[in-house]
Amino acid sequence: MSEQAIIRKQQLTFMLYNFIAFSIIFSIFALIIFSQTKLTLYSKTDADLLAFKNSIIEKGLSQRMLQPSGRPPIGAPSDEMRNRPNPRMIVLTWNKDKQLNNPENTPFYGDFFVDLPFQQIDDITNITLYDQYTFRTISFKNPHNNDDQDYIQLLMNVDGEQNILNNYGRLLTICTVVFVLLSIAASFILSRKTMKPIIRSWNKQVEFVENASHELRTPLTIIQNKLELLLTTPYERIMDKFESIALTLSETRRLSKLTSDLLTLARADSMETQLVKERFDLDAFVQEVCEPYKEMAELQEKHLRVTTQSGLMIEADKSRLHQLMVILLDNALKYTGEHDSIIVKTSMEDHKCLIEVSDTGIGISEEGLQHIFSRFYREDKARTRETGGSGLGLSIAKWIVSSHGGTIQASHNKPKGTIFKIRLPK
Ligand code: ADP
Repeated sequence: MSEQAIIRKQQLTFMLYNFIAFSIIFSIFALIIFSQTKLTLYSKTDADLLAFKNSIIEKGLSQRMLQPSGRPPIGAPSDEMRNRPNPRMIVLTWNKDKQLNNPENTPFYGDFFVDLPFQQIDDITNITLYDQYTFRTISFKNPHNNDDQDYIQLLMNVDGEQNILNNYGRLLTICTVVFVLLSIAASFILSRKTMKPIIRSWNKQVEFVENASHELRTPLTIIQNKLELLLTTPYERIMDKFESIALTLSETRRLSKLTSDLLTLARADSMETQLVKERFDLDAFVQEVCEPYKEMAELQEKHLRVTTQSGLMIEADKSRLHQLMVILLDNALKYTGEHDSIIVKTSMEDHKCLIEVSDTGIGISEEGLQHIFSRFYREDKARTRETGGSGLGLSIAKWIVSSHGGTIQASHNKPKGTIFKIRLPK
C-alpha cells in the first residue's frame, strides 16, 4: 500500500471514530433531555394518581369523593377541598374476573371504555384509546371490595402533555439529525487536524531512517572492502597493510559513534531518557571539561582560552552537560585551522547561566545557520567526512539544552568563525 493510501485510510478511520463518538454523544444528550422532560411533565399527574389511590385504600371508594359539593370557598381551600381528586380523574371498577363493571354504561362515560383491557396492577402506565386519547393510568386491588369492585383503575387524560412531548420529540429528532450531519463535517476537519502532526512525524521518521541507513552504509562498505582486500593477501605482514587496517579501525570508530548518536536521538524522541539533575559549580565544571581540549588545541597549534566568571551553581544533568560541551569543543577543534583561537566563557545573564563557545575557524554560511541544528545537516559533506562528522552532534546538543529548559543559538563571530551561546536556567 502506498504512503498516501495508508494516510488516507488512517484519516478515514479517525473520521469514522469521531463521527461515531459525536453521534453517540448527541443521541445520549437528546435521550436524557427527552426522558427528563417526560418525567417532569408526568410527575404532577402521577402524584395525583398515587394520592387518590392512597385515599381510596384508606377510606374506600364513594361517589362523594368525585362529586363537587358546592362552590370552592374564597381564600384558602379547606382540607376537604384540598383532598379532592384532580377533576380530570376517571375511576373505573373491575370485578374479580378482571371484567369491567358496566362496560356499556360507566358513570359519566357511557361505553367509552368498553374495549379497555385490564392493566397490570400497581404500575403507572400510558394507554391510548381510539388512537387519539392518551391516558396515564394505575390499577390496584380494592381492599374494601363491595359491589363487585375488586379492582379499581384510575385514569387521567394526558393529551396536552402527550402533544407537548410529541412536538418536543420531533424537534429533538430533527436537531439530533442536523447535529449528526454537522458532525460529519466536524469529524472530517478534526481528522485532518489530527493527521497533520502524524504525517509530519511520519515524514521525519522516514527521512531519519533513510539518512541513518545511508550514513551507516558508507563506513560498512569501506570496512567490507578493506577486509576483503586484506583476505586476498593472507601472507602479508600487518606492517605492510597498516594503512588499510588503520582506515578500517577509524571507520569502525565512526560507526560506533554514529550508532550511539542515533540511539541517543531515538531515546530522546521516545522521551525515554530521564535527566539526573544535581547541583554543581558551573565554572569548575567547564574548566574541568576544557582541560584535555587545551592540550589537544596546543598539539594542533591552536589557542584555547577558558574564562569562567559566572560564579554560579547550576542544577543540571552533569553527564548530559558534559556531552554538550564535548560536542561544541569537538566542533570548534574540527572547524578551526592552525593559529585559530577558541574561547570558552561562562557568565550570568538575566538570571540565567550563559555558556559561550566561540572560535575563529571557517565559520558557517548564512543558510547553514538556519539548519545546523537539523539532523544530518552538514555544511560541506565531503569535508565533514574527513573530519568524521555525521551531522548529528548539534541536534543532540539542542535536545540536551531544551530538555534543561534552555536555549542554544549559533551566530557569526567577528571577523570570522562561529559563536555558540547557551542559556540555561540556574
Ligand atoms: P558534525 O558531526 O558534522 O560536526 P554537527 O551537528 O556537530 O555535525 O554539526 C553540523 C554542521 O555544522 C557541521 O557539519 C558543520 O558544517 C557545522 N558546524 C558545527 N560547528 C561548527 C563550527 N564551530 N564552525 C563551523 N562550522 C560548524
